Amino acid sequence: MGLIPYKNEAYLDFSDEKNVAEMQAALKKVGDSLGGEYPLVIGGKRVETDGEVISVNPAKPSEVVGRTGRATEREADMALATATEAFEKWSRTSPEARARIMLRAAAVMRRRRFEFLAWEAYEGGKPWFEADAQVAEAIDFLEYYAREMLRLKDGVEIYAIPGEESRYFYRPMGVGVVIAPWNFPTAILTGMSAAALVAGNTVIMKPSEFTSVIGAKVAEVFEEAGVPEGVFNYLPGYGSEVGDYLVGDARTRFISFTGSMQTGLRINELAAKQTPGQRWIKRVIVEMGGKDAMVIDESADLDSAAVDIVKSAYGYSGQKCSAASRAILHEKIYDEVLEKVVEGARLLKIGAPDSADINVGPVISEPQFEKVSGYINSGNQEGERLLGENPGDGKDGYFVSPTIFAVEEKARVANEEIFGPVLSVVKARDFSDALRIANDSPYGLTGGVYSRNREHLEKARHEFQAGNVYFNRTITGALVGVQPFGGFGMSGTDSKAGGPDYLPLHMLAKTVVERF
Ligand code: NAP
Repeated sequence: MGLIPYKNEAYLDFSDEKNVAEMQAALKKVGDSLGGEYPLVIGGKRVETDGEVISVNPAKPSEVVGRTGRATEREADMALATATEAFEKWSRTSPEARARIMLRAAAVMRRRRFEFLAWEAYEGGKPWFEADAQVAEAIDFLEYYAREMLRLKDGVEIYAIPGEESRYFYRPMGVGVVIAPWNFPTAILTGMSAAALVAGNTVIMKPSEFTSVIGAKVAEVFEEAGVPEGVFNYLPGYGSEVGDYLVGDARTRFISFTGSMQTGLRINELAAKQTPGQRWIKRVIVEMGGKDAMVIDESADLDSAAVDIVKSAYGYSGQKCSAASRAILHEKIYDEVLEKVVEGARLLKIGAPDSADINVGPVISEPQFEKVSGYINSGNQEGERLLGENPGDGKDGYFVSPTIFAVEEKARVANEEIFGPVLSVVKARDFSDALRIANDSPYGLTGGVYSRNREHLEKARHEFQAGNVYFNRTITGALVGVQPFGGFGMSGTDSKAGGPDYLPLHMLAKTVVERF
Protein backbone atom coordinates (compact mmCIF):
# COMPACT_ATOMS: atom_id res chain seq x y z
CA MET A 1 0.00 0.00 0.00
CA GLY A 2 1.34 3.44 -0.85
CA LEU A 3 1.25 5.59 2.25
CA ILE A 4 3.20 8.58 3.44
CA PRO A 5 5.66 7.64 6.20
CA TYR A 6 4.27 7.75 9.71
CA LYS A 7 4.61 11.04 11.57
CA ASN A 8 3.01 12.38 14.72
CA GLU A 9 -0.06 14.54 14.33
CA ALA A 10 0.84 18.22 14.89
CA TYR A 11 -0.75 19.95 17.87
CA LEU A 12 -3.11 22.86 17.45
CA ASP A 13 -1.75 26.31 18.16
CA PHE A 14 -4.12 28.13 20.48
CA SER A 15 -2.31 31.43 20.04
CA ASP A 16 -3.92 31.36 16.59
CA GLU A 17 -7.30 33.08 16.88
CA LYS A 18 -8.80 30.88 14.21
CA ASN A 19 -8.25 27.81 16.39
CA VAL A 20 -9.65 29.62 19.43
CA ALA A 21 -12.76 30.56 17.47
CA GLU A 22 -13.20 26.97 16.25
CA MET A 23 -12.79 25.65 19.76
CA GLN A 24 -15.32 28.09 21.15
CA ALA A 25 -17.76 27.14 18.41
CA ALA A 26 -17.26 23.44 19.24
CA LEU A 27 -17.79 24.11 22.95
CA LYS A 28 -21.03 25.89 22.10
CA LYS A 29 -22.23 23.15 19.77
CA VAL A 30 -21.34 20.28 22.10
CA GLY A 31 -22.66 22.33 25.04
CA ASP A 32 -26.05 22.49 23.30
CA SER A 33 -26.12 18.71 22.97
CA LEU A 34 -25.24 17.81 26.56
CA GLY A 35 -27.57 15.45 28.37
CA GLY A 36 -28.05 13.10 25.40
CA GLU A 37 -28.65 9.39 25.67
CA TYR A 38 -26.26 6.75 24.38
CA PRO A 39 -27.43 3.15 24.33
CA LEU A 40 -25.11 0.16 24.08
CA VAL A 41 -24.09 -0.89 20.58
CA ILE A 42 -23.93 -4.65 20.07
CA GLY A 43 -23.71 -6.14 16.59
CA GLY A 44 -24.46 -2.70 15.12
CA LYS A 45 -27.77 -2.45 16.99
CA ARG A 46 -28.64 0.09 19.67
CA VAL A 47 -29.48 -1.87 22.82
CA GLU A 48 -31.46 -0.18 25.60
CA THR A 49 -30.87 -1.19 29.21
CA ASP A 50 -32.92 -0.82 32.39
CA GLY A 51 -30.23 1.08 34.21
CA GLU A 52 -28.08 4.00 33.07
CA VAL A 53 -24.68 5.52 33.74
CA ILE A 54 -24.93 9.26 34.31
CA SER A 55 -21.85 11.21 33.39
CA VAL A 56 -21.35 14.74 34.74
CA ASN A 57 -19.06 17.68 34.08
CA PRO A 58 -16.37 17.60 36.79
CA ALA A 59 -16.06 21.40 36.63
CA LYS A 60 -19.80 21.70 37.26
CA PRO A 61 -21.15 18.49 38.75
CA SER A 62 -24.78 19.61 38.44
CA GLU A 63 -24.40 19.49 34.64
CA VAL A 64 -25.15 16.12 33.07
CA VAL A 65 -22.90 15.45 30.07
CA GLY A 66 -24.84 12.39 28.99
CA ARG A 67 -26.57 9.19 29.98
CA THR A 68 -25.31 5.93 28.63
CA GLY A 69 -26.67 2.43 28.84
CA ARG A 70 -25.58 0.32 31.78
CA ALA A 71 -24.67 -3.20 30.76
CA THR A 72 -25.50 -6.15 32.98
CA GLU A 73 -24.36 -9.74 32.55
CA ARG A 74 -27.21 -10.18 30.07
CA GLU A 75 -25.82 -7.59 27.66
CA ALA A 76 -22.25 -8.73 28.31
CA ASP A 77 -23.36 -12.20 27.24
CA MET A 78 -24.96 -10.79 24.07
CA ALA A 79 -21.77 -8.90 23.27
CA LEU A 80 -19.60 -11.99 23.78
CA ALA A 81 -21.86 -14.08 21.53
CA THR A 82 -21.90 -11.37 18.84
CA ALA A 83 -18.13 -10.74 18.95
CA THR A 84 -17.44 -14.48 18.80
CA GLU A 85 -19.58 -14.85 15.69
CA ALA A 86 -18.16 -11.72 14.02
CA PHE A 87 -14.62 -13.01 14.54
CA GLU A 88 -15.10 -15.71 11.91
CA LYS A 89 -15.33 -13.21 9.06
CA TRP A 90 -13.21 -10.37 10.43
CA SER A 91 -10.26 -12.64 11.14
CA ARG A 92 -10.30 -13.62 7.46
CA THR A 93 -10.55 -10.04 6.23
CA SER A 94 -7.25 -9.00 4.70
CA PRO A 95 -4.80 -7.03 6.88
CA GLU A 96 -4.77 -4.34 4.17
CA ALA A 97 -8.54 -3.89 4.39
CA ARG A 98 -8.37 -3.74 8.18
CA ALA A 99 -5.56 -1.20 8.02
CA ARG A 100 -7.56 0.94 5.59
CA ILE A 101 -10.44 1.09 8.05
CA MET A 102 -8.07 2.34 10.77
CA LEU A 103 -6.70 4.98 8.40
CA ARG A 104 -10.23 6.06 7.67
CA ALA A 105 -10.96 6.22 11.41
CA ALA A 106 -7.95 8.54 11.75
CA ALA A 107 -9.38 10.76 9.02
CA VAL A 108 -12.80 10.81 10.69
CA MET A 109 -11.26 11.76 14.01
CA ARG A 110 -9.20 14.49 12.35
CA ARG A 111 -12.38 15.93 10.81
CA ARG A 112 -14.11 15.78 14.21
CA ARG A 113 -11.10 17.02 16.14
CA PHE A 114 -12.60 20.15 17.72
CA GLU A 115 -15.75 18.27 18.62
CA PHE A 116 -13.65 15.67 20.45
CA LEU A 117 -11.73 18.43 22.24
CA ALA A 118 -15.02 19.88 23.43
CA TRP A 119 -16.23 16.51 24.76
CA GLU A 120 -12.90 16.14 26.55
CA ALA A 121 -13.38 19.56 28.12
CA TYR A 122 -16.93 18.84 29.30
CA GLU A 123 -16.61 15.22 30.37
CA GLY A 124 -12.93 14.95 31.26
CA GLY A 125 -12.36 18.50 32.56
CA LYS A 126 -9.35 18.75 30.26
CA PRO A 127 -7.62 22.04 29.51
CA TRP A 128 -7.51 22.66 25.77
CA PHE A 129 -3.88 21.84 25.19
CA GLU A 130 -4.16 18.57 27.13
CA ALA A 131 -7.32 17.61 25.26
CA ASP A 132 -5.66 18.34 21.95
CA ALA A 133 -2.53 16.33 22.76
CA GLN A 134 -4.77 13.41 23.57
CA VAL A 135 -6.87 13.55 20.41
CA ALA A 136 -3.65 13.85 18.40
CA GLU A 137 -2.42 10.73 20.22
CA ALA A 138 -5.59 8.85 19.29
CA ILE A 139 -5.05 9.76 15.62
CA ASP A 140 -1.42 8.67 15.94
CA PHE A 141 -2.43 5.26 17.31
CA LEU A 142 -4.73 4.68 14.33
CA GLU A 143 -2.09 5.73 11.79
CA TYR A 144 0.73 3.88 13.51
CA TYR A 145 -1.03 0.55 14.13
CA ALA A 146 -2.35 0.53 10.55
CA ARG A 147 1.25 0.76 9.32
CA GLU A 148 2.43 -1.76 11.90
CA MET A 149 -0.11 -4.28 10.59
CA LEU A 150 1.13 -3.73 7.06
CA ARG A 151 4.70 -4.29 8.27
CA LEU A 152 3.76 -7.54 10.01
CA LYS A 153 1.12 -8.91 7.63
CA ASP A 154 3.44 -11.44 5.98
CA GLY A 155 5.21 -12.37 9.18
CA VAL A 156 8.91 -11.92 9.85
CA GLU A 157 12.02 -13.54 8.39
CA ILE A 158 13.40 -16.66 10.05
CA TYR A 159 16.00 -19.23 8.93
CA ALA A 160 15.32 -22.58 7.28
CA ILE A 161 17.22 -25.83 6.89
CA PRO A 162 18.17 -27.01 3.36
CA GLY A 163 15.26 -28.43 1.38
CA GLU A 164 12.61 -26.75 3.50
CA GLU A 165 10.75 -23.51 3.71
CA SER A 166 10.06 -22.08 7.16
CA ARG A 167 7.42 -19.42 7.62
CA TYR A 168 6.68 -17.44 10.75
CA PHE A 169 3.57 -15.32 10.63
CA TYR A 170 0.83 -13.92 12.79
CA ARG A 171 -2.85 -14.66 12.99
CA PRO A 172 -5.68 -13.06 14.93
CA MET A 173 -6.56 -14.40 18.38
CA GLY A 174 -10.28 -13.94 19.04
CA VAL A 175 -12.52 -11.79 21.20
CA GLY A 176 -10.73 -9.04 23.09
CA VAL A 177 -12.21 -7.22 26.06
CA VAL A 178 -10.90 -3.66 26.12
CA ILE A 179 -11.26 -1.91 29.48
CA ALA A 180 -10.12 1.68 29.82
CA PRO A 181 -9.64 4.36 32.48
CA TRP A 182 -11.10 7.85 32.39
CA ASN A 183 -7.91 9.88 32.20
CA PHE A 184 -7.19 9.50 28.47
CA PRO A 185 -10.57 8.33 27.23
CA THR A 186 -10.11 9.25 23.58
CA ALA A 187 -6.51 8.11 23.21
CA ILE A 188 -6.50 4.95 25.32
CA LEU A 189 -9.87 3.65 24.12
CA THR A 190 -8.90 4.32 20.53
CA GLY A 191 -5.38 2.93 20.88
CA MET A 192 -6.25 -0.30 22.69
CA SER A 193 -9.22 -0.93 20.38
CA ALA A 194 -7.37 -0.07 17.17
CA ALA A 195 -4.51 -2.45 17.95
CA ALA A 196 -6.90 -5.30 18.70
CA LEU A 197 -9.04 -4.62 15.62
CA VAL A 198 -6.33 -4.12 13.04
CA ALA A 199 -4.76 -7.38 14.20
CA GLY A 200 -8.00 -9.13 13.20
CA ASN A 201 -9.70 -9.52 16.56
CA THR A 202 -13.18 -8.47 17.59
CA VAL A 203 -13.64 -6.08 20.49
CA ILE A 204 -15.98 -5.47 23.39
CA MET A 205 -15.09 -2.02 24.64
CA LYS A 206 -15.97 -0.99 28.18
CA PRO A 207 -15.19 2.66 28.89
CA SER A 208 -14.81 4.13 32.36
CA GLU A 209 -18.06 5.05 34.06
CA PHE A 210 -16.78 8.65 34.23
CA THR A 211 -16.14 9.03 30.51
CA SER A 212 -18.73 6.79 28.92
CA VAL A 213 -19.96 9.50 26.56
CA ILE A 214 -16.50 9.90 25.04
CA GLY A 215 -16.57 6.11 24.74
CA ALA A 216 -19.75 6.47 22.67
CA LYS A 217 -18.02 9.07 20.47
CA VAL A 218 -15.04 6.75 19.88
CA ALA A 219 -17.53 4.00 18.98
CA GLU A 220 -19.12 6.38 16.43
CA VAL A 221 -15.72 6.92 14.81
CA PHE A 222 -15.12 3.19 14.33
CA GLU A 223 -18.64 2.79 12.99
CA GLU A 224 -18.27 5.71 10.57
CA ALA A 225 -14.91 4.34 9.44
CA GLY A 226 -16.58 1.08 8.44
CA VAL A 227 -15.72 -1.42 11.14
CA PRO A 228 -18.32 -4.13 10.42
CA GLU A 229 -21.23 -4.74 12.78
CA GLY A 230 -20.34 -6.98 15.70
CA VAL A 231 -16.60 -6.50 15.23
CA PHE A 232 -16.59 -3.56 17.61
CA ASN A 233 -19.15 -3.45 20.42
CA TYR A 234 -19.71 -0.55 22.81
CA LEU A 235 -20.56 -1.79 26.29
CA PRO A 236 -20.71 0.99 28.88
CA GLY A 237 -21.52 -0.04 32.44
CA TYR A 238 -19.92 -0.37 35.83
CA GLY A 239 -16.76 -2.43 36.10
CA SER A 240 -18.03 -3.82 39.38
CA GLU A 241 -21.14 -5.14 37.61
CA VAL A 242 -19.85 -6.53 34.32
CA GLY A 243 -16.06 -6.59 34.64
CA ASP A 244 -15.68 -10.00 36.27
CA TYR A 245 -18.19 -11.55 33.89
CA LEU A 246 -16.39 -10.30 30.79
CA VAL A 247 -12.96 -11.24 32.10
CA GLY A 248 -14.00 -14.66 33.39
CA ASP A 249 -16.05 -15.84 30.42
CA ALA A 250 -14.66 -18.75 28.40
CA ARG A 251 -15.24 -16.90 25.10
CA THR A 252 -12.87 -14.08 26.04
CA ARG A 253 -9.51 -14.67 24.36
CA PHE A 254 -7.63 -11.69 25.74
CA ILE A 255 -8.07 -8.68 27.95
CA SER A 256 -6.48 -5.34 27.19
CA PHE A 257 -6.74 -3.22 30.30
CA THR A 258 -5.44 0.16 31.41
CA GLY A 259 -6.30 1.42 34.88
CA SER A 260 -5.39 1.07 38.52
CA MET A 261 -3.11 -1.58 40.00
CA GLN A 262 -5.92 -2.93 42.14
CA THR A 263 -8.22 -3.61 39.18
CA GLY A 264 -5.37 -4.81 36.96
CA LEU A 265 -4.27 -7.42 39.50
CA ARG A 266 -7.84 -8.60 39.96
CA ILE A 267 -8.20 -9.04 36.20
CA ASN A 268 -4.89 -10.87 36.00
CA GLU A 269 -5.95 -13.30 38.72
CA LEU A 270 -9.42 -13.94 37.35
CA ALA A 271 -8.20 -14.37 33.79
CA ALA A 272 -5.75 -17.03 34.92
CA LYS A 273 -8.57 -19.35 36.06
CA GLN A 274 -9.85 -21.75 33.46
CA THR A 275 -13.62 -21.77 33.15
CA PRO A 276 -15.66 -24.66 31.70
CA GLY A 277 -15.40 -24.71 27.92
CA GLN A 278 -12.31 -22.51 27.85
CA ARG A 279 -9.74 -23.74 25.33
CA TRP A 280 -6.88 -21.32 25.80
CA ILE A 281 -4.83 -19.47 28.32
CA LYS A 282 -6.18 -15.94 28.21
CA ARG A 283 -3.68 -13.31 27.34
CA VAL A 284 -3.64 -10.33 29.65
CA ILE A 285 -2.23 -6.97 28.70
CA VAL A 286 -2.49 -4.75 31.77
CA GLU A 287 -1.06 -1.29 32.17
CA MET A 288 -1.46 0.17 35.63
CA GLY A 289 -0.50 3.01 37.96
CA GLY A 290 2.69 4.84 38.81
CA LYS A 291 4.50 6.89 41.40
CA ASP A 292 6.83 8.56 39.00
CA ALA A 293 9.92 10.40 40.12
CA MET A 294 12.15 13.11 38.68
CA VAL A 295 15.69 13.15 40.02
CA ILE A 296 17.62 16.42 39.84
CA ASP A 297 21.33 16.37 40.54
CA GLU A 298 23.71 19.18 41.44
CA SER A 299 24.98 19.62 37.85
CA ALA A 300 21.56 20.15 36.25
CA ASP A 301 20.14 23.18 34.49
CA LEU A 302 17.99 24.12 37.46
CA ASP A 303 15.66 26.59 35.72
CA SER A 304 14.79 24.12 33.07
CA ALA A 305 14.41 21.31 35.61
CA ALA A 306 11.96 23.35 37.67
CA VAL A 307 9.86 24.23 34.61
CA ASP A 308 9.66 20.58 33.57
CA ILE A 309 8.84 19.37 37.08
CA VAL A 310 5.89 21.77 37.13
CA LYS A 311 4.71 20.65 33.68
CA SER A 312 5.10 16.97 34.52
CA ALA A 313 3.42 17.25 37.91
CA TYR A 314 0.40 19.39 37.07
CA GLY A 315 -0.52 18.65 33.44
CA TYR A 316 -4.13 17.40 33.56
CA SER A 317 -4.08 18.06 37.32
CA GLY A 318 -1.54 15.28 37.87
CA GLN A 319 -4.04 12.70 36.63
CA LYS A 320 -1.62 11.03 34.24
CA CYS A 321 -0.11 7.66 34.99
CA SER A 322 3.15 9.25 33.84
CA ALA A 323 2.84 12.39 36.01
CA ALA A 324 5.74 13.40 38.23
CA SER A 325 4.46 12.89 41.75
CA ARG A 326 7.89 12.85 43.36
CA ALA A 327 10.76 15.29 42.88
CA ILE A 328 13.98 13.95 44.38
CA LEU A 329 16.48 16.74 44.73
CA HIS A 330 20.19 16.59 45.54
CA GLU A 331 20.71 18.35 48.87
CA LYS A 332 23.05 20.96 47.34
CA ILE A 333 20.39 22.33 44.99
CA TYR A 334 17.32 21.35 47.05
CA ASP A 335 16.36 24.82 48.30
CA GLU A 336 16.94 26.54 44.98
CA VAL A 337 14.96 24.06 42.88
CA LEU A 338 12.16 23.85 45.41
CA GLU A 339 11.75 27.61 45.40
CA LYS A 340 11.62 27.68 41.60
CA VAL A 341 9.07 24.85 41.50
CA VAL A 342 6.84 26.58 44.05
CA GLU A 343 7.02 29.83 42.08
CA GLY A 344 6.28 28.08 38.79
CA ALA A 345 3.34 26.12 40.19
CA ARG A 346 1.91 29.22 41.84
CA LEU A 347 1.49 30.82 38.40
CA LEU A 348 -0.74 28.06 37.04
CA LYS A 349 -4.26 29.17 36.29
CA ILE A 350 -6.98 26.94 37.70
CA GLY A 351 -10.52 26.76 36.38
CA ALA A 352 -13.10 25.18 34.13
CA PRO A 353 -11.53 24.58 30.71
CA ASP A 354 -13.56 27.13 28.82
CA SER A 355 -10.63 29.23 27.64
CA ALA A 356 -7.17 28.48 26.28
CA ASP A 357 -5.31 29.96 29.24
CA ILE A 358 -6.52 27.45 31.85
CA ASN A 359 -3.65 25.20 32.96
CA VAL A 360 -5.27 23.13 35.69
CA GLY A 361 -8.85 21.89 35.48
CA PRO A 362 -10.85 19.90 38.03
CA VAL A 363 -10.10 16.35 39.09
CA ILE A 364 -12.42 13.89 37.42
CA SER A 365 -15.00 12.89 40.01
CA GLU A 366 -16.26 13.04 43.55
CA PRO A 367 -14.46 9.83 44.62
CA GLN A 368 -11.24 11.16 43.10
CA PHE A 369 -11.77 14.54 44.81
CA GLU A 370 -12.27 12.75 48.16
CA LYS A 371 -9.21 10.59 47.60
CA VAL A 372 -6.94 13.52 46.74
CA SER A 373 -8.34 15.54 49.67
CA GLY A 374 -7.54 12.61 51.96
CA TYR A 375 -3.93 12.57 50.76
CA ILE A 376 -3.65 16.32 51.29
CA ASN A 377 -4.73 15.70 54.89
CA SER A 378 -2.04 13.03 55.22
CA GLY A 379 0.56 15.33 53.70
CA ASN A 380 -0.38 18.07 56.16
CA GLN A 381 0.46 15.67 59.00
CA GLU A 382 3.54 14.16 57.40
CA GLY A 383 5.47 17.14 56.13
CA GLU A 384 5.51 20.81 55.29
CA ARG A 385 3.03 22.12 52.75
CA LEU A 386 4.74 24.74 50.63
CA LEU A 387 1.89 25.38 48.22
CA GLY A 388 -1.80 24.58 47.99
CA GLU A 389 -4.94 24.87 50.04
CA ASN A 390 -7.22 22.43 51.76
CA PRO A 391 -9.79 21.49 49.09
CA GLY A 392 -13.34 22.73 49.75
CA ASP A 393 -16.47 20.59 49.49
CA GLY A 394 -16.29 20.14 45.70
CA LYS A 395 -19.91 21.15 45.19
CA ASP A 396 -18.96 23.83 42.64
CA GLY A 397 -16.50 21.64 40.80
CA TYR A 398 -13.87 19.16 41.85
CA PHE A 399 -11.05 21.68 41.94
CA VAL A 400 -7.82 21.03 43.82
CA SER A 401 -5.08 23.61 43.59
CA PRO A 402 -1.49 22.59 42.82
CA THR A 403 -0.02 21.33 46.08
CA ILE A 404 3.58 20.75 47.14
CA PHE A 405 4.77 18.88 50.21
CA ALA A 406 8.33 18.69 51.46
CA VAL A 407 8.48 15.25 53.07
CA GLU A 408 10.73 12.38 54.13
CA GLU A 409 11.04 9.55 51.63
CA LYS A 410 8.83 7.19 53.65
CA ALA A 411 5.82 9.55 53.81
CA ARG A 412 2.59 8.06 52.43
CA VAL A 413 2.19 10.95 49.99
CA ALA A 414 5.63 10.12 48.59
CA ASN A 415 4.82 6.43 48.11
CA GLU A 416 1.18 5.89 47.16
CA GLU A 417 -0.36 6.87 43.86
CA ILE A 418 -2.52 9.96 44.53
CA PHE A 419 -3.45 10.79 40.95
CA GLY A 420 -4.01 14.46 41.60
CA PRO A 421 -2.08 17.75 41.57
CA VAL A 422 0.08 16.85 44.55
CA LEU A 423 3.86 16.78 44.36
CA SER A 424 6.08 15.35 47.11
CA VAL A 425 9.60 16.71 47.30
CA VAL A 426 12.29 14.59 48.89
CA LYS A 427 15.92 15.45 49.66
CA ALA A 428 18.74 13.09 48.63
CA ARG A 429 22.35 12.96 49.88
CA ASP A 430 23.85 12.27 46.48
CA PHE A 431 22.93 10.86 43.06
CA SER A 432 23.06 7.21 44.14
CA ASP A 433 20.84 8.00 47.08
CA ALA A 434 18.41 9.83 44.76
CA LEU A 435 18.25 6.86 42.39
CA ARG A 436 17.77 4.47 45.33
CA ILE A 437 14.78 6.55 46.54
CA ALA A 438 13.35 6.72 43.02
CA ASN A 439 13.60 2.93 42.66
CA ASP A 440 12.18 2.19 46.10
CA SER A 441 8.64 1.78 44.78
CA PRO A 442 6.54 -1.16 43.65
CA TYR A 443 5.71 0.87 40.55
CA GLY A 444 8.02 1.54 37.62
CA LEU A 445 6.26 3.51 34.94
CA THR A 446 8.08 6.73 34.06
CA GLY A 447 11.09 8.47 35.53
CA GLY A 448 13.27 11.43 34.78
CA VAL A 449 16.78 12.62 35.45
CA TYR A 450 18.01 16.17 35.10
CA SER A 451 21.81 16.19 34.95
CA ARG A 452 24.83 17.33 32.97
CA ASN A 453 26.91 14.52 34.41
CA ARG A 454 27.46 11.75 31.84
CA GLU A 455 28.24 9.16 34.49
CA HIS A 456 24.96 9.87 36.26
CA LEU A 457 22.98 9.66 33.05
CA GLU A 458 24.60 6.35 32.05
CA LYS A 459 23.96 4.91 35.51
CA ALA A 460 20.30 5.97 35.31
CA ARG A 461 20.00 4.63 31.75
CA HIS A 462 20.59 1.13 33.13
CA GLU A 463 19.54 1.31 36.75
CA PHE A 464 16.42 3.51 36.84
CA GLN A 465 13.68 0.91 37.26
CA ALA A 466 11.04 2.39 35.01
CA GLY A 467 9.66 1.49 31.59
CA ASN A 468 10.03 5.04 30.26
CA VAL A 469 13.00 7.09 31.41
CA TYR A 470 13.55 10.63 30.17
CA PHE A 471 16.67 12.77 30.54
CA ASN A 472 16.64 16.57 30.77
CA ARG A 473 12.98 16.98 29.79
CA THR A 474 9.42 16.38 30.93
CA ILE A 475 8.34 12.82 31.73
CA THR A 476 4.78 12.93 30.40
CA GLY A 477 3.17 12.99 26.95
CA ALA A 478 4.74 9.89 25.38
CA LEU A 479 4.51 10.14 21.59
CA VAL A 480 3.19 7.18 19.62
CA GLY A 481 5.92 5.54 17.58
CA VAL A 482 8.56 7.73 19.23
CA GLN A 483 8.31 6.89 22.94
CA PRO A 484 6.67 3.45 23.21
CA PHE A 485 4.93 3.40 26.56
CA GLY A 486 4.57 0.78 29.30
CA GLY A 487 5.66 0.12 32.85
CA PHE A 488 7.82 -2.22 34.90
CA GLY A 489 6.93 -3.81 38.23
CA MET A 490 3.42 -3.13 39.46
CA SER A 491 2.94 -0.59 36.68
CA GLY A 492 2.06 -3.34 34.25
CA THR A 493 3.09 -5.88 31.69
CA ASP A 494 5.39 -3.45 29.88
CA SER A 495 3.33 -3.81 26.72
CA LYS A 496 4.77 -0.63 25.19
CA ALA A 497 1.74 0.90 23.54
CA GLY A 498 2.71 2.81 20.42
CA GLY A 499 5.78 0.64 19.90
CA PRO A 500 6.97 -2.11 17.56
CA ASP A 501 6.23 -4.96 20.00
CA TYR A 502 2.63 -3.96 20.71
CA LEU A 503 0.66 -5.54 17.84
CA PRO A 504 2.16 -9.02 18.26
CA LEU A 505 0.66 -9.08 21.76
CA HIS A 506 -2.71 -9.17 20.02
CA MET A 507 -1.87 -12.06 17.70
CA LEU A 508 -0.76 -15.67 17.73
CA ALA A 509 2.57 -16.36 16.08
CA LYS A 510 2.51 -19.45 13.88
CA THR A 511 5.37 -21.46 12.42
CA VAL A 512 4.70 -23.51 9.27
CA VAL A 513 7.44 -25.66 7.76
CA GLU A 514 7.22 -27.37 4.36
CA ARG A 515 9.72 -29.94 3.12
CA PHE A 516 10.16 -30.05 -0.65
P1 NAP B 1 -9.78 1.77 37.62
O1 NAP B 1 -10.64 2.20 38.74
O2 NAP B 1 -8.91 0.59 37.79
O3 NAP B 1 -10.76 1.57 36.38
C1 NAP B 1 -10.27 1.24 35.09
C2 NAP B 1 -11.34 0.51 34.33
O4 NAP B 1 -11.56 -0.77 34.94
C3 NAP B 1 -12.69 1.22 34.34
O5 NAP B 1 -13.30 1.08 33.09
C4 NAP B 1 -13.43 0.45 35.40
O6 NAP B 1 -14.83 0.54 35.29
C5 NAP B 1 -12.95 -0.95 35.15
N1 NAP B 1 -13.19 -1.90 36.24
C6 NAP B 1 -13.47 -1.66 37.54
N2 NAP B 1 -13.62 -2.83 38.20
C7 NAP B 1 -13.44 -3.82 37.31
C8 NAP B 1 -13.46 -5.24 37.38
N3 NAP B 1 -13.69 -5.90 38.51
N4 NAP B 1 -13.22 -5.94 36.27
C9 NAP B 1 -12.96 -5.31 35.09
N5 NAP B 1 -12.93 -3.98 34.97
C10 NAP B 1 -13.16 -3.23 36.05
O7 NAP B 1 -8.83 2.97 37.16
P2 NAP B 1 -9.24 4.48 36.85
O8 NAP B 1 -9.49 5.20 38.12
O9 NAP B 1 -10.28 4.51 35.79
O10 NAP B 1 -7.91 5.03 36.17
C11 NAP B 1 -6.84 5.57 36.87
C12 NAP B 1 -5.70 4.56 36.96
O11 NAP B 1 -5.28 4.20 35.66
C13 NAP B 1 -4.46 5.12 37.64
O12 NAP B 1 -3.95 4.15 38.52
C14 NAP B 1 -3.50 5.36 36.48
O13 NAP B 1 -2.15 5.34 36.84
C15 NAP B 1 -3.86 4.24 35.57
N6 NAP B 1 -3.44 4.50 34.20
C16 NAP B 1 -2.37 3.80 33.70
C17 NAP B 1 -1.92 4.04 32.41
C18 NAP B 1 -0.76 3.28 31.85
O14 NAP B 1 -0.54 3.34 30.64
N7 NAP B 1 -0.02 2.56 32.66
C19 NAP B 1 -2.57 5.01 31.62
C20 NAP B 1 -3.64 5.70 32.16
C21 NAP B 1 -4.08 5.43 33.45
P3 NAP B 1 -15.65 1.64 36.15
O15 NAP B 1 -15.21 2.96 35.65
O16 NAP B 1 -17.05 1.35 35.86
O17 NAP B 1 -15.27 1.39 37.59
